[in-house]
Amino acid sequence: MKMSQLFVQTLREDPSDAEVVSHKLLVRAGYIRKLTSGVYNYLPLMQRVLRKIENIVREEMDAKGAQELLMPFVQPEELWQESGRWDVYGKELMRLKDRHDRGMCLGPTHEEVITFIAREGIRSYKQLPVNLYQIQSKFRDEIRPRFGLLRGREFIMKDAYSFDFDQKGMEVAYEKMADAYTKIFLRCGLETRAVQSDSGAIGGSVSHEYMVLTNTDAGENDVLYCDKCSYAANTNHATSKMLKAVVDGGFAKAEKVHTPNVKSIDDLAAFLKVEPSVICKSLVYIADSKPVLALIRGDKAVEEVKLMNAVGANEIRIATEGEIKELMAQSGFDAVPGFIGPEGLKGITVVADNSVGELKNFIIGINETDYHLVGANFGVDVTGPCELHDIRLAQKGEGCPDCDGHLLITKGIEVGNIFQLGTKYSAAMGATFTAENGEEKPFIMGCYGIGITRTAAAAIERYHDDWGIIWPIAIAPYHVVVTPVNVKDEQQIETAQKIYEELKIQGVEVVLDDRDERAGVKFKDADLIGFPYRITVGKTITEGLVEFKARNSSDIQKISADDAVSKIVEIVKNIK
Ligand code: ATP
Ligand code: MG
Repeated sequence: MKMSQLFVQTLREDPSDAEVVSHKLLVRAGYIRKLTSGVYNYLPLMQRVLRKIENIVREEMDAKGAQELLMPFVQPEELWQESGRWDVYGKELMRLKDRHDRGMCLGPTHEEVITFIAREGIRSYKQLPVNLYQIQSKFRDEIRPRFGLLRGREFIMKDAYSFDFDQKGMEVAYEKMADAYTKIFLRCGLETRAVQSDSGAIGGSVSHEYMVLTNTDAGENDVLYCDKCSYAANTNHATSKMLKAVVDGGFAKAEKVHTPNVKSIDDLAAFLKVEPSVICKSLVYIADSKPVLALIRGDKAVEEVKLMNAVGANEIRIATEGEIKELMAQSGFDAVPGFIGPEGLKGITVVADNSVGELKNFIIGINETDYHLVGANFGVDVTGPCELHDIRLAQKGEGCPDCDGHLLITKGIEVGNIFQLGTKYSAAMGATFTAENGEEKPFIMGCYGIGITRTAAAAIERYHDDWGIIWPIAIAPYHVVVTPVNVKDEQQIETAQKIYEELKIQGVEVVLDDRDERAGVKFKDADLIGFPYRITVGKTITEGLVEFKARNSSDIQKISADDAVSKIVEIVKNIK
């Protein structure tokens, strides 16, 4: 491809509506053009990147025996009624009516359609297992479609669905997908961590999210990961081994102590000259409109999602001062926040973090303003019913739960996920098969998604510099750009053309920057677009030398013009 003919318009300025670097660079380098909010045209350079990611995905899916199909983008309401999701999906589901007033929607995902296909086509366990996938546009009317391709309204997804006749088969299918995912992202040049997702209050189902760890604003997830093993988890799900802390307050007996005006745990610890870890902190939450008292060690914080799951709620928030006052009044107390404690409170569930169970002779509020109890012990001074759960926010620096490493924290971008669905859709939609013993049984399903467009954007978040994109070569739109410095210099343009033609013959994806522009302009564009390699043909061609430069290094090597082609061919040959 000649640069003079390539359909690309680069911009010097960042688009005004772009917040994250991948969005800015994709627009500036001429990969995408916005059509309307959250909906983008994928221009020729982008299309090449997407094709590469898609092909890697196809190869790895096919290697696991999955079969590609293509389902319609528009789906009928009745299937969504059958699954029960028409009423619960929310506003992300773009609903429409056809001319006969029949309800339709734009596919945000395809569980309903694939379950329909299995229901129609699979009669017997002998046809199982099967894994079907497609690569297709999805539409979700996301509330805030910011971040460009990372969170669009229309985006491209690979979605796969496995069907098995038993739980074991589904687990095998799941493991195969887990393995394929690791390979797919590695081939795209992206190291990912499989993070166990929050399975929610009803939960029980297994799922993992594949995160690209990258500390940019675009990372929508906080991820704790081990510096030694592969452990990684969202902060609202992570567990950790706590580092050693004092757990015995050392008080000889239980005693009510005057602690006036202490507003925080730190104030209280300073006032009593103790470590915060020997204070038992009491926090009031409202979970699905019911009050919950959470007990946590003074040096630790409550993770609200864990607490919410522990009490089986769907929503949680910290109680207001008014609500706390009311709660106090119900139990005949009038203490202000800071002096609350579990003993004697009525009409409230008490949940203590596991770590609180280890405390001895600790300090705790007793629902009396300006007083605390020191030297308290469970069973003696705290006597009410209390559930023990892990409700603690794991923090960086703490021990890995799986090995003797330590946890680090970073942001993550979810590029894919795998999910053991079980019979959720097959049972609801009556999608069954005849089992070996003659029984009719619903399919055991799994679903597996990869954001194709998001993966491209995540790669940019991970690999860029002030000048532009630094594509991993396997997903770059072209492998190399050949840049004659002065196109009016015959020897330069002729050599450049010769290298270009030879590279093409060898199957290298190459662009010849044949434009009559200043070298600086051409270099800037090349860096912005992110060609992984650049061969520059300039003045030294009189000595038979050209420049070789990798986009991810500032090194410029002078090499013989004759070696340029073989050097690039060798690199391209090694792309997996
Ligand atoms: P998220 O939590 O980021 O909204 P999700 O849980 O809705 O993701 P799925 O419905 O499982 O994701 O979709 C599978 C994959 O599709 C995701 O892992 C992600 O890579 C991609 N994806 C989801 N929503 C979008 C979007 N709005 N824009 C681009 N890619 C998306
Ligand atoms: Mg979503």
